[in-house]
Amino acid sequence: MKRRRARVIRIGQVPIGGEYPVAIQSMAKAKTSDVRRVIPQIRALETAGCEIIRVAVRDTADANAIARIKKEISIPLVADIHFDYRLALAAIASGSDKIRLNPGNIFKPAHIREVAAAALDKGIPIRVGLNSGSVRGSGDTVKLMVTAALAYVRQLERWGFHDIVLSLKANDAGGTIAAYRAIAGRCDYPLHLGVTATGLPFEGMIKSCVALGSLLIDGIGDTIRISLTDRPQHEVRVARALLSSLGLRNFGPSIISCPTCGRCEVDLISIVRDLERRLSGSQAQSTRRGRPLTVAVMGCVVNGPGEARHADIGIAFGRGTGLLFKKGRPVRKVAAKDSVTILLDEIRASERR
Ligand code: SF4
Repeated sequence: MKRRRARVIRIGQVPIGGEYPVAIQSMAKAKTSDVRRVIPQIRALETAGCEIIRVAVRDTADANAIARIKKEISIPLVADIHFDYRLALAAIASGSDKIRLNPGNIFKPAHIREVAAAALDKGIPIRVGLNSGSVRGSGDTVKLMVTAALAYVRQLERWGFHDIVLSLKANDAGGTIAAYRAIAGRCDYPLHLGVTATGLPFEGMIKSCVALGSLLIDGIGDTIRISLTDRPQHEVRVARALLSSLGLRNFGPSIISCPTCGRCEVDLISIVRDLERRLSGSQAQSTRRGRPLTVAVMGCVVNGPGEARHADIGIAFGRGTGLLFKKGRPVRKVAAKDSVTILLDEIRASERR
């Protein structure tokens, strides 16, 4: 897929846009001033693979806490500001790496100008973050969002501010896709993708992956956030799986497994779950370049060997045993009970090569 070429912007040490990888963002769910809760939550997100963290700034205590949080974390921090531009100024002074402003509730030119001047002084970007629920006016919501986003951008540009990221989140996949497609051709600023208020994990995952997946296939998107009514680590896990499935990022081995049917004579679901669990720790830190290693785990010798042959490493099970493949060639038979350990050994050996 051909990526839209966005202007390069730096969020702390993370560059986005251009040919830089699509970065994964999440949001802390504890109150920002409650540093004893929020710092461990952000650290857990870092371990899960989060690359940019956003925190809600509701009052001065939240803004001031940013300085303390920044000392304890190693990924860039974005301050999420609504209603009161003075909180943006406080968050910038406290060391935020980026500010998110909502044009639906911070819109006075003098206020925007003051925030832009402070951000320019510190060399940090501003995300102009629209949600379908907060745009003003009547009519087509997508058009309203695009018009409002571009008007805000023009104000920032007039004051010499160009470190801009844009987001136009609707609460459904169709609206989100339409809004981002519309804005993508109207400017060269990086786009942060997300669907606002998606719902519980199952529905939220589907809605987010349909919307963000469609846009990413179009080459649109420089950072993503999967919003779920769930633990934030789950958001990061889904984001990684989405980017990996599109071949945009490589976070380590990708497991392909068959759905099983009446031909399967092993407990394939348990085997695959065990393999995924034992792989997940190492995947978070994987630095292997290029496409992910593919590992096929197939339930029988009827279709299994055919599929396993296309993977880098594969196994096709019979009754109590499995036939191991490497690069399409059968290597040896292994006992089903030892298969996960043997697959892990083979994966690690391949990653070292
Ligand atoms: S690989 Fe074998 S067990 Fe798995 S779904 Fe296909 S036919 Fe069934």
